[in-house]
Amino acid sequence: MNFMSNKVNVIPCSGMGKVHGLLAREMALKVVQELCPDISQTECLAYIVTGDQEVGNKIQSGQCITIDGCPLMCAAKSVNHAGGVIAQELRVLDALKSYRGVKPGTATALNEAGWKIVDETAEKIAMQVKEIYGEE
Ligand code: SF4
Repeated sequence: MNFMSNKVNVIPCSGMGKVHGLLAREMALKVVQELCPDISQTECLAYIVTGDQEVGNKIQSGQCITIDGCPLMCAAKSVNHAGGVIAQELRVLDALKSYRGVKPGTATALNEAGWKIVDETAEKIAMQVKEIYGEE
């Protein structure tokens, strides 16, 4: 299937109750709303899990980047189950390796350090989105 010029799906896990899930969601939103609004899109993970046909078609229409908050990899597993093609499986824990000892905030609110992690990681994800989309 030719995915060229189809929007890249950036799908974070839901990760309620963990700062890692909040980081994943904020990273995805930063990419699709601010950095790559014309070439990327996202969907609520729960909507994907429930097997909605319209969302399934959207997921299958372009390549996907998943962002997971823990090793259970809910976003990657759900997108895979929905028939999506995953170009990149990102783990928040991997991103945090560059910020050893930094406390990014709580499950409900990021602090300044947390937003810095979101901004810097989202920039890297945006570069991957552009590469996958075919802009670079
Ligand atoms: S990957 Fe981990 S943090 Fe994210 S939704 Fe699943 S269990 Fe929660």
